[in-house]
Amino acid sequence: MLTFYLVLLSITNQSQVNQKDFKRKKIINRLKNQGRHNSDCIFCRILDGLEEGTFIYRDDNVSAFMDIHPLFEGHTLVIPNEHFKDVTDVKPEIMAEVMKVAQIVSKLMIDNLGADGINIMHSTGRSAGQTIYHFHVHVLPRRIGDDAGFERWWFSRSHKASRDELQEVANRLTQR
Ligand code: 5GP
Ligand code: ZN
Repeated sequence: MLTFYLVLLSITNQSQVNQKDFKRKKIINRLKNQGRHNSDCIFCRILDGLEEGTFIYRDDNVSAFMDIHPLFEGHTLVIPNEHFKDVTDVKPEIMAEVMKVAQIVSKLMIDNLGADGINIMHSTGRSAGQTIYHFHVHVLPRRIGDDAGFERWWFSRSHKASRDELQEVANRLTQR
């Protein structure tokens, strides 16, 4: 009886996996047809199953998988299934979907990985440190005392600006 149950369970799991796999392939094919899939891009290849990825979340628009070089244990990348290069390029509604998933992942980190803080980071362009040109956000679980030197760096590089200085930059920023 137990064996039967286990066999049944494994058949059920297998068919769930196959269905998921089928759905994933359908999404990838749709994106390929729309030209929003770049076979030279490592993240597109991970989505496609051509490179290994450790996924924690997938839906029609967004996927999340573990960063291969974790800055903190649990460091996760959240990406659109469509290939967009950066923040200037990604559709706003897709970016909103990415952020929804970043929130889900953040809560998982707090509930299951003992995180008590989260950094959500993004880089666009080489000067900002972008190395993979498929839009993504990093979700970083933080714990008191993990000390990345991050906050120290931030405060050592920033200064208290005068109101005039802020206004002058704001004017330039919003000029037409
Ligand atoms: P960026 O520097 O563009 O903001 O972040 C790219 C991230 O992708 C880096 O944190 C890097 O560790 C990660 N990464 C690069 N190649 C791979 C890979 O093949 N698999 C996974 N899972 N992450 C990768
Ligand atoms: Zn891509």
